[in-house]
Amino acid sequence: MPTTKYPNVVIFDHPLIQHKLTYLRDKETSHRPFRALLYQIAGLMVFEATRNVAVREIEVQTPMEKTKGYRLAGQATVVPVLRAGLGMAEGVLEMMPEARVGHLGIFRDEKTLEPIAYLKRLPKDLNAGPVLLVDPMLATGGSAAAAIRMLREAGATDLRMICLVASPEGIRRLTKEEPNLKIYTAAIDERLNEKGYILPGLGDAGDRLYGTG
Ligand code: URA
Repeated sequence: MPTTKYPNVVIFDHPLIQHKLTYLRDKETSHRPFRALLYQIAGLMVFEATRNVAVREIEVQTPMEKTKGYRLAGQATVVPVLRAGLGMAEGVLEMMPEARVGHLGIFRDEKTLEPIAYLKRLPKDLNAGPVLLVDPMLATGGSAAAAIRMLREAGATDLRMICLVASPEGIRRLTKEEPNLKIYTAAIDERLNEKGYILPGLGDAGDRLYGTG
């Protein structure tokens, strides 16, 4: 995968992902195709985001003979940040149906842009495998940083973040707080506006996803 000037960030410059991302950016794309596209991109991204997860060797009996095979060693957990993260979690689960799902509800105070947590439902043994934090927009990094703190406090050790569009500001903030956190994104955009929205971005991902804009 291409690296960027941020060593902890993986950008998905794959044509399929860029093709779908461009539809997501288009303001004419309504919530129905938006939902399908976000789901598909998340499913594609999870391949790379889980590339180095631990596996254990097993023996399997084919119709012909015994051979060596592999199973995922740990118990993976997908953690969407509500609301927009739900649209990505579904796509991840399509590829990893056995994964557990934790939920974090965090919203941004519109004035201060500070994150406010209102929901936390997580498996008890978060350290039993990789934890995939999913949230399409890494903007100021405030919500993501809050989510990461909550996941670390809850015991997450192998933590990875999958987003769709990131801002340089958000990446810098997360990298400062969590230098070893691997961030997977389809794009790093130009900047944030005064309201903390990503430019050019795709608008409010939750509204675009659920048709509430
Ligand atoms: N959240 C969004 O949904 N979009 C942005 O551009 C920034 C934060």
